[in-house]
Amino acid sequence: MVHAPERPPAGAPPIRINLYSDTQTKPTPAMLEAMMRAEVGDEQHGDDPTVHALCDRMAALMGKEAAVFMPSGTMCNVAATLVHCRPGEEIIAHETAHILTSEGGAHAALGSVQILPLKGDRGMYSADALRGALRGKSRHTPTQRLVEVEQTANTGGGAVWDRAVLAEIAEIAHGAGLSTHMDGARLMNACVAAGIPAAEMTAGYDSVWLDFTKGLGAPLGAVLCGTRDFIDEAWRWKQRLGGAMRQAGVCAAGCLYALDHNIDRLADDHANAKALYRGLSQIPGIAVTEPDTNLVYFDTAGTGVASLDVVRALRMEGVQVSFLGGRIRACLHLDVTAPMVEEALQVLRAVVARG
Ligand SMILES: *Cc1c(COP(=O)(O)O)cnc(C)c1O
Repeated sequence: MVHAPERPPAGAPPIRINLYSDTQTKPTPAMLEAMMRAEVGDEQHGDDPTVHALCDRMAALMGKEAAVFMPSGTMCNVAATLVHCRPGEEIIAHETAHILTSEGGAHAALGSVQILPLKGDRGMYSADALRGALRGKSRHTPTQRLVEVEQTANTGGGAVWDRAVLAEIAEIAHGAGLSTHMDGARLMNACVAAGIPAAEMTAGYDSVWLDFTKGLGAPLGAVLCGTRDFIDEAWRWKQRLGGAMRQAGVCAAGCLYALDHNIDRLADDHANAKALYRGLSQIPGIAVTEPDTNLVYFDTAGTGVASLDVVRALRMEGVQVSFLGGRIRACLHLDVTAPMVEEALQVLRAVVARG
């Protein structure tokens, strides 16, 4: 068992086209400049003005009372669970949700909660699936406490939940006495794709967070939003988990820069994802799902070359993609241009033709 991240294979060339993840974006000179100029203080002591500016701005953007700056999205999810739930309680989420598949079992390890997995296409479940999952109250059943959605749904292919479905899910949850949490790692991708303001998209969700290290291109940081009382309790977990920072304004300045400059341009990533999808769907034997946003999932088994072999062959040509849930994932972001998409398609065609 290897727990540390894998290093590149021996002899691999430098990566020319990085479709691995939007987490791999490098801060631009202009973002670094904003970070260098940031006014800072001791964040843990409540003295960092740039962190306060970011939190105030995020609370307003999400239509919530308050916000807290966290080092990562995972810490936002874990802190939210720890505030919402007590040991032995249950969270309802999609079976592919990040909290269930990709956080090292943190919600069980640290919160002693269980997660009830729901089925549904493209990382999303229906209002009816939620109704069907609600348990009656009895001493035999775990107490259900929280309903979780992921906007966009990552393993679901960057799928965008319909705003009306989100509203119905929140209404059902609240009607049954459960709280609601939105994992908004790529929330702004959903808002740009749907043309819906963030506060509207997150209405009805008691807690929501946004990652600045995905498509928004900042090197570090995520912001969790909710009521004043919720954020007060989340701060206690941030402290306990070791997430209270010092001159964090350097990083918050990168996030503020991203809010000003990197949201509208997400539409370019979505256009590049569509172009990649169109190119892939013209290669015989490739099964590809049409993307709503910036994630393109495909399978090359039908070409006679297994997906994992394609991932390895592409890497040896300087093109990095990821292998996730048995499929290839290509992620579009601000370090990938339209000509790079064309070039990646060319390399892929050659790899598949070579067999
Ligand atoms: C990336 C991601 C996370 C975790 O965020 P980190 O900042 O990497 O800790 C959580 N949920 C989803 C849907 C993600 O894509």
